[in-house]
Amino acid sequence: MSKPSQPFEIARETLRRLATTKTPPTPDNYRAIYHEITGSKIAEPFPERSLKALHAALPRDTAEQIRFARQLETAIAGANWDGVGMALTDLLAKPGAEPLAWSSLIHELVQQLDTHHAGLTTTKKKETVEHVLSVSNSPELLYSRLQSAVRSWAHTPIGDSTELVSAVAPESSLSSPAPATGSGGRPLAAGSGRDQPASRGGIGELQELIAQLLNNTLSIVLAENPELARESSEIAAAVRAARNEEELGRLAERLKKLGYRAQYVAEDQAELKSALLQLVHLIIENISELVVDDQWLTGQISVVRELINEPLTLRRLDDVERRMKDVIIKQSSLKKSLNDAKDRLKLMLATFVDRLSDFSETTSGYHDKIENCAQRISKANDISELSDVLDEVMRETRVVQLNAARSRDELSVMRTRVSEAEREVTRLQNELAHASDLVRHDALTGALNRKGMDEALESEVARLRRQGGSLSLAMLDIDNFKKLNDSLGHAVGDAALVHLSQVARETIRPQDTLARYGGEEFVILLPNTPIGDAVSAMVRVQRELTRRFFLSNNDKVLITFSCGVAELQDEETPYDALKRADEAMYLAKRAGKNRVVPA
Ligand code: GH3
Ligand code: MG
Ligand code: MG
Repeated sequence: MSKPSQPFEIARETLRRLATTKTPPTPDNYRAIYHEITGSKIAEPFPERSLKALHAALPRDTAEQIRFARQLETAIAGANWDGVGMALTDLLAKPGAEPLAWSSLIHELVQQLDTHHAGLTTTKKKETVEHVLSVSNSPELLYSRLQSAVRSWAHTPIGDSTELVSAVAPESSLSSPAPATGSGGRPLAAGSGRDQPASRGGIGELQELIAQLLNNTLSIVLAENPELARESSEIAAAVRAARNEEELGRLAERLKKLGYRAQYVAEDQAELKSALLQLVHLIIENISELVVDDQWLTGQISVVRELINEPLTLRRLDDVERRMKDVIIKQSSLKKSLNDAKDRLKLMLATFVDRLSDFSETTSGYHDKIENCAQRISKANDISELSDVLDEVMRETRVVQLNAARSRDELSVMRTRVSEAEREVTRLQNELAHASDLVRHDALTGALNRKGMDEALESEVARLRRQGGSLSLAMLDIDNFKKLNDSLGHAVGDAALVHLSQVARETIRPQDTLARYGGEEFVILLPNTPIGDAVSAMVRVQRELTRRFFLSNNDKVLITFSCGVAELQDEETPYDALKRADEAMYLAKRAGKNRVVPA
């Protein structure tokens, strides 16, 4: 027998061998025999589960670790083995992966603290260290900031520190050298010679602040315009070097010109941003017109539309990017399965058509033969001749009958397989549409749905554990909602839910998050909010709700809610905190509704 080449032939042969060798029909045995028949290599299955467990246990204390975890997560979700390798290589290639050389850094720090530098007092160096200590929230950041401070001191010429009296904000010595004293000259406000910035509030301070503004701020705005950025740094240096008012005054004209040009650049950038947003708007509108039927795209479109309808913040961009990535990964793998299933379906239909043409060929051969027999019958002269012809007719008919029976069996198997494949295609299409729900907010109210809330909670808790602060959770439940539904109808009930969401969203801060927890229950996440402030925020929402009536057929309907608030404790899971908020909400109900109770 020739080697089977069509997938269904290979499958049939595989099953036959499993049966004849009495091998248990497990997926692994099936795979092994299948590959034996095709002579192909067994692909190792992607160890998704083990990698996911490993990913879940990764530390996420530094930006680098978080980036690595995300990179790995993307590779796992796409079953991308090369991607896993790349994430590991990237991680190991990062200089941060090397142990930080604390002892030599501290050694150098102590040395540089004791060295007298021109224009740098010991007090100022200590201020810098204190500042760096207070703003660096990870060892890596602390290390790199201290290192750049020490390096900038090391590059400052050695000199008499008591000469210097410029008041510089601590961070300035990280990014810019301290003001030069010039050849024998002193900074404008120098005068006391104490080891203390004596000129705070004086013109020397102003000089330094202008230089910093030019160097640190304006250079970022002008990053895409090297000529202006250079002019800005040059003026900064000249401002620092100016020894008297006259020298400073001479810079005024240059500074004014730079100001004008920088203003144009800033205006251009603002215009560019709004034009880009406008463009995104247009594209999104256009896509949504084109893909009305493609449910699996609408979720993504609505998220982008919501994003650009409100002021852009990095936090929101970050959240949207993360959720979109999840959906895109899920959808691209589903899309692949869907295409595979469609290909299988096409192959089956092609085989079906082949069979049909084979069959019609057989039957047309039969017709020819029967016609031939008919002619022979009409010309037959004796019985024996007739009997030969009849024998042949019988034989041919039996062959056609057998062929027909075989084709019928094969076609019925084929029909079953086609409908299975069709079902698979429909299932995958549904799943694809459903994947979009992952990203979608609750369709009715626009608040985050449960999945969105889980993600938002996860990222808020991670932020809290990283940066400290507080996180409060509020659980809201509308009072007597059933009565409202019963008296005014379900559609009015729905509109009331939309109204409440709108008022709540417009009353809470932009960094707070509203999620629909279930029917008429909502959760609000309040980052960096201790419980007392969270209670006040919720009372504010209640007041706003009584001020902004909900209108049903021009009748004012008062909607109230009961609310429990809990602040997340150290070591507590957010779901335990939610549970406490829920219990407090029930206390609020029992105490007479329309009130806020802290847990
Ligand atoms: P309580 O003050 O104790 O909370 O009373 P309640 O009537 O609000 O509470 P209950 O849990 O008995 O009823 C909640 C009602 O909310 C029941 C359900 O029909 C309605 N509901 C849930 N989801 C929706 C929705 O999406 N739309 C509408 N219109 N009603 C909803
Ligand atoms: Mg309820
Ligand atoms: Mg209720």
